[in-house]
Amino acid sequence: MSHYELRCRECGRTWGNQPRSICDDCFSPLEVAYDYDALKASVSRERISQRAPNMWRYSELLPLPPSFTPRLPVGFTPLFNAPQLAQKLSGTAAAGNLYIKNDAVCLPTLSFKDRVVAVALSQARAFGFDTVSCSSTGNLANAVAAHAAREGLKAWIFIPSDLEPAKILGTNVFGAKVVRIAGNYDQVNRLCSQIADEHRWGFVNVNLRPYYAEGSKTVGFEIAEQLGWRLPDNIVCPMAGGSLITKIRKAFDELIKLGLVEPKEVKFFGAQATGCSPISTAVKSGSPEIEPQKPNTIARSLAIGNPADGHYAIKTIKNSGGWSEDVSDPEVVDSIRLLAESEGIFTETAGGVTVGCAGKLYRQDRILPDETTVLCITGNGLKTTDVLAGVYKTERPIAPKLAEFEAHLQQTLDLDEVPGVVAAAQEAAEIGA
Ligand SMILES: *Cc1c(COP(=O)(O)O)cnc(C)c1O
Ligand SMILES: [Zn+2]
Repeated sequence: MSHYELRCRECGRTWGNQPRSICDDCFSPLEVAYDYDALKASVSRERISQRAPNMWRYSELLPLPPSFTPRLPVGFTPLFNAPQLAQKLSGTAAAGNLYIKNDAVCLPTLSFKDRVVAVALSQARAFGFDTVSCSSTGNLANAVAAHAAREGLKAWIFIPSDLEPAKILGTNVFGAKVVRIAGNYDQVNRLCSQIADEHRWGFVNVNLRPYYAEGSKTVGFEIAEQLGWRLPDNIVCPMAGGSLITKIRKAFDELIKLGLVEPKEVKFFGAQATGCSPISTAVKSGSPEIEPQKPNTIARSLAIGNPADGHYAIKTIKNSGGWSEDVSDPEVVDSIRLLAESEGIFTETAGGVTVGCAGKLYRQDRILPDETTVLCITGNGLKTTDVLAGVYKTERPIAPKLAEFEAHLQQTLDLDEVPGVVAAAQEAAEIGA
């Protein structure tokens, strides 16, 4: 007997362990339930802290097959203070309590999707699949392809045809079969549900979805441990299908249940791009349900118009006393640059969405400067460089001569000083007058 099994989120019926995501009785989604009383005896802060710095340190709280041995050190990404970003977002110098959880450097494929795939594929093997698959907005494609290569599994990846070139290449390179679909993510996903009925494949976000989703909890476990086994006041989390935000909530609840952290009310804030904001729109209008949208945004990793966990994401946000915001595409680009220039982190469009929304939430006083706030940066900027095309002009090359460089330096400094020179001249004129 394993210490976890599938359970219907609505009617509570249990389904054991099998590749299935929906309850046949009431058509609600399934999730993994654990025997927490049994876990209490085996889990402690000390035991976890002594383990290697990767997400497998929380193995007891993940649905892993009994014989499973991890083959990749995934997760345990840095959490660090972001004082300069805090000052820019909140407008006060006192905002020393802003943190970045940086999954832009999650291994092996530079997004938090490595976490969910690591758990899903552990079960794919156990269920006897030799082929794994997914519908993806990009990062999941990269993660499934890489982990499948490592595990010796075949991979079929379905993507909308307009995906960023780096995300397509970053799937091809692992030897996966890539199928580009002339349609948006929601159409790709529907197709995958049909294929899943025809082929005995492990679809990480269809028939393995309950196991996949559990991988997201490790973001929450790590945040708590890295804050010194305590919970923050606020979490700002980008949303696509809406799974990650609900699973960070589940992670915090489990840590409280197991006595690993003190109970605390954490506010959950969702972040979306305005061009695809079904969850934010519902939260703002007070609706408990999603109205599907047709995505139109550069934040393609978040472009899911009919989010599978939308209903639960709304619930998580509302019950926590949080809120959800959205930002325009130009704000996404500005926010990518702001994070890079203030903290040295190059994130993808999803991270731009998170930073942009965090700024709005500070300005609305929904997040206060002295509260401990964690921004979830979930993906890497090198995968979405196309959105910065045209932002930086290509400099004319100079000859490899010192004199040329000195002239270039002088010219650059003169240009940089123009606003200062003008201001000083104005001041002088005012004093003179
Ligand atoms: C998939 C993804 C998300 C959102 O994940 P959901 O669990 O579907 O809400 C956020 N950021 C990035 C970079 C992603 O790829
Ligand atoms: Zn049910």
